[in-house]
Amino acid sequence: MRIAVLTFMHETVTFLSNDTTTDDFLYPGSPCKGEALLSTRSNASMAGFVRCAREFADVELVGIESPLFPKTGTGSGWIAREAFEHFAGIMVRALTAQGPFDGVYMALHGAMAVRGVARPEAELAARVRHAVGRAATIAATFDPHGNEDEAFFASADLGFCAKYYPHYDMHLQGERAARTLVRAIRGTYVPQVACIKVPILSPTVVQWTGAPPWMDVVQRALVWEARQPDSFVNVFFGFPWADTPDAGMAVQVTTDGDLALAQCIARDMASFVWRQREALVSAAQVHGIDEGVAMAGAAVEQGAVPIVIADHSDRSGHATWVLKRLLERSMKRVLIASVADGKLVGRLVAEGVQPGDRFDEAVGGMADASSGEPVRISGTVLAVGEGLPGGDGRGLGTWVAVGFGEGNVLVVSAFLMQIVEPSQLEKMGFQLSDFDVFVIKSRVHFRRGFHDSGFSPCILLVQPEQPFLGTTRLEALPYQHLRLADFYPFGRERFAP
Ligand SMILES: [Zn+2]
Repeated sequence: MRIAVLTFMHETVTFLSNDTTTDDFLYPGSPCKGEALLSTRSNASMAGFVRCAREFADVELVGIESPLFPKTGTGSGWIAREAFEHFAGIMVRALTAQGPFDGVYMALHGAMAVRGVARPEAELAARVRHAVGRAATIAATFDPHGNEDEAFFASADLGFCAKYYPHYDMHLQGERAARTLVRAIRGTYVPQVACIKVPILSPTVVQWTGAPPWMDVVQRALVWEARQPDSFVNVFFGFPWADTPDAGMAVQVTTDGDLALAQCIARDMASFVWRQREALVSAAQVHGIDEGVAMAGAAVEQGAVPIVIADHSDRSGHATWVLKRLLERSMKRVLIASVADGKLVGRLVAEGVQPGDRFDEAVGGMADASSGEPVRISGTVLAVGEGLPGGDGRGLGTWVAVGFGEGNVLVVSAFLMQIVEPSQLEKMGFQLSDFDVFVIKSRVHFRRGFHDSGFSPCILLVQPEQPFLGTTRLEALPYQHLRLADFYPFGRERFAP
């Protein structure tokens, strides 16, 4: 049994001004193929797939040349058409040259947005189908932030979406994809899929599945999977910063040969989600920057440390709003990780920056209105590092840590840096007990290490008062490819799945 394995993933913020280009996917280790792809540690769903597929003695996996997640992370906009064509072309040529295949596994995200391609994942599936022929079985895994509808299944057979946010179960969905793909190839599983779009659009910061009502949605999907053996229930939360026609929530249900059952479960899930709509879209409390920083100051005085300030809205990584406010309030013992400023980091590296150097620079801002003004920081370079420990392996580039004020540290990074575990900061060389406040750029992922672990008693989600591109106030965003009024809570009142 020969199975081709490939990946092409991005979570595209189409409102960012910098397009994602071919070059953004090129760095040491990306693209890769063969064993290098199959053993990459950067992709949990693929790792789960490979581990499980290799338990079958008669399965041969073929790693098809694929780009890994772009080095800009989620800090870049529309994927250039040329980049999509370039990598899709490489994959299709490799599939044709190295075939025939019994199956194809694609590790996808679902919120990729490509200029001029309305549904990139479905388009990729169509091209893969054309390359491998009708007899092959095509399976994929998705991120819960995917914007997907039924179009993907016009060409593909199976899809498995992670259920949790933070995305704890990516590897598990990869394992399920492997087992079910092998069965489908053998003919002992006949996928029947039902898809329903649920017209709810919500900012990702509210979508934490560690508490109701999002936890309730996950739980209901798990109950259906428990009640009906061989059923798989995907709930896409959707990604509202990709301005695409298939944005928003969606339910996909796959059963073994029973379309009526798939439709029944999909209707139940969709109507359950719709009934929870009011609670779903208002599940997180987000503070203005000033209010959030003031609350952090009060919490320090009360000893409720360590405190996490998460600027969920910074999509470029350059935002300086929190940093500026911390300086104005003369806060102490704060670690800010990070403010992105690729130009500054590039210049410092060219100048041979070293620990101990004096640092007096304007940092961050300027990417667009959402990132604010550069902030002048005077201090001392404490460390110069490379990449993000425990991160996703992409070429995140150099970062520079600067000590300033009374026990404060600012990390200046080349790209948007999302810290999700305190241990990452320790591996960067910081002593966690040196800080009362941790300022990070993350929406929900950080709860993995800072909240679910019990690390921080005080989590403060913040965003600028103005409705910049990362705002929870989606009505302020210049959508062109979807009509906001079609969604709850922006005008949509009725929905009958
Ligand atoms: Zn996600």
